[in-house]
Amino acid sequence: MSICKGCTHSVIVSKEVLQELIQDAEKDGRKIVSEDVFEKRLNMCKSCPSLQYETTCMHSGSLIHYRARLKESTCPYPQGSKWLGA
Ligand code: SF4
Repeated sequence: MSICKGCTHSVIVSKEVLQELIQDAEKDGRKIVSEDVFEKRLNMCKSCPSLQYETTCMHSGSLIHYRARLKESTCPYPQGSKWLGA
């Protein structure tokens, strides 16, 4: 896979930045899923053809390590959610 250097600047973020984003979401009152649900969602994303740069869902444009943490998030896969049951 060729990687666009312009894109990777914004789609590859450190664990520390992700943690800050998740903490900010919690402070804003957003609900976070359990570690188990988070891992199930991530595993589905990792085997999904719509995952770009190993970080980003091409349908939502979201960083999966952030999106999968939020309880309200859904999987936008066009043929149906891959997160059902997670
Ligand atoms: S379509 Fe769903 S499973 Fe695929 S990368 Fe996006 S959120 Fe993850």
